[in-house]
Amino acid sequence: MNIATQAVQIGLEWDNRTGAVTVPIYQTATFRHPGLGQSTGYDYSRSGNPTRQTLEDGIARLDGAARGFAYASGMAAIANLLLLFKSGDHLIVTEDLYGGTCRLFDKIFTQYGLSFSYLDTSNIAEVSAAILPSTKAIFIETLTNPLLKFADLRAISALCKSNNLLLIADNTFLTPYLLRPLDMGADIALYSATKYLAGHNDTVAGLVTVKDPALAELVYFHQNSVGAVLGPQDSWLTIRGIKTLAIRMDRQQENAGRIAEWLAGHPRITKVYYPGLKNHTDHNLMARDSRGFCAMIAFEVDRHELVEQILMKTKLISFAESLGGVESLITFPQVQTHADIPPELRARLGINNLLLRLSVGIEDCDDLIEDLHQAID
Ligand SMILES: *Cc1c(COP(=O)(O)O)cnc(C)c1O
Repeated sequence: MNIATQAVQIGLEWDNRTGAVTVPIYQTATFRHPGLGQSTGYDYSRSGNPTRQTLEDGIARLDGAARGFAYASGMAAIANLLLLFKSGDHLIVTEDLYGGTCRLFDKIFTQYGLSFSYLDTSNIAEVSAAILPSTKAIFIETLTNPLLKFADLRAISALCKSNNLLLIADNTFLTPYLLRPLDMGADIALYSATKYLAGHNDTVAGLVTVKDPALAELVYFHQNSVGAVLGPQDSWLTIRGIKTLAIRMDRQQENAGRIAEWLAGHPRITKVYYPGLKNHTDHNLMARDSRGFCAMIAFEVDRHELVEQILMKTKLISFAESLGGVESLITFPQVQTHADIPPELRARLGINNLLLRLSVGIEDCDDLIEDLHQAID
């Protein structure tokens, strides 16, 4: 079954008694036991809640995973996954990582004896040379933020297999609709569901999918032990969001393609990073492996004063963090999402004081282009 259809089916058959077409919000902390030593399958909502379970089963199905897990945020999901490692373990990670992930690794988990090497994970030889006896995993983003580099998952997963490393893929930007990391050799996929999956800039949530049932059991043990679970309301909102994922993504990508072309032709825009454009370094690889090019665009203006002008003058496009929702948003990565990346690394990656990032929403594309036009000129 196609993912667009699977997404709509989530929770549809939960309640055969009433025939309700959406799963109820089970706003309960605990569950009555039918008898001594008996359980309905639910005992306490940290350990399991029917609304959350519906979301967890749904994302597992979309990703072709053994199990799915829902957390209070994307960061809570990532923190939970790091509990798979022990003091002394080393991880190789993509260098242009989401700022919050970088902060979690460097400022918190290094204190517990984990170490991280930041590399250009598109350079397989360099990654291979960096593998140490203590290396346990490679952590990548399938499409990076803000410069939209696309990972060669097949090549990285082959390297992981031959070195017995776990491959963890943050697939926030692409979602299962565009790419399924577990099909391409990843062991674990994760999502800030706050972004495209929930899709309405109204919920903070994190999701994890795990391919191997035994590994999934361990992830469940950590989820239940630490308890950073997603509440029933937010689980329900995330399910509702996922149902329209396919049409939102189709529309957002179509808008992004047109806006990227328009920006590329504008005299005051000096660079446009959009993998749907043929001149993007990863265009061909992404065309091979992904169903689409997503709806994120980064671009450079010809002078710094224009940054503030655009952020202040756009009317439809809001100056706000986050991405992936129906509303178009614009950010200035250097001082927002990437403030926690060391300045030298930021400079090397191309995140400078001329770079803006646009998350294209579902609005009418002519209106968005008109908004950018009046803000830039
Ligand atoms: C937003 C984001 C996160 C963090 O998720 P939250 O839901 O904000 O905690 C992690 N990875 C990527 C790629 C993101 O964009």
